[in-house]
Amino acid sequence: MRRGKLVKTIMLTERQKYDRQYNQQHKEERREYDRKYKQQHREEILAKKRQYYKANKARLNALSKEKYQQYKLEVLSYYSVKSYPICARCEVTDMDVLCIDHINGGGHKHRTKIGCWGICSWLKRNNYPEGYQVLCANCNLKKHIREGK
Ligand SMILES: [Zn+2]
Repeated sequence: MRRGKLVKTIMLTERQKYDRQYNQQHKEERREYDRKYKQQHREEILAKKRQYYKANKARLNALSKEKYQQYKLEVLSYYSVKSYPICARCEVTDMDVLCIDHINGGGHKHRTKIGCWGICSWLKRNNYPEGYQVLCANCNLKKHIREGK
């Protein structure tokens, strides 16, 4: 059993190496073929995706939530004044109420622009740019009311 599995892994790796090399040598052809295929089978592909999502809805949603929580923890820890997620003003540590604050305002505009995956994944993808801090929902609202940003 174990031996069979090992052989399969090696074969897969060889196949992957070959595919990678082939795709590298035929990059443009490959891209054009993929584009045409997707165009010709658009409805079929979408139907399969919908079917897959429907069949695995709970698992996919749980995975997505888990991934989001992981991103949130990483990003909030990075922007916190301590090594763990904490509000910069009142020191609340409840992850459910902590959020990323745009230090100089403009948060609403930015959120509208980057879409639904959220600020946490955006910050991670953009190598943690400066200008952000961690605030709890209360401090964030107070800041908005008192300072207008
Ligand atoms: Zn706070």
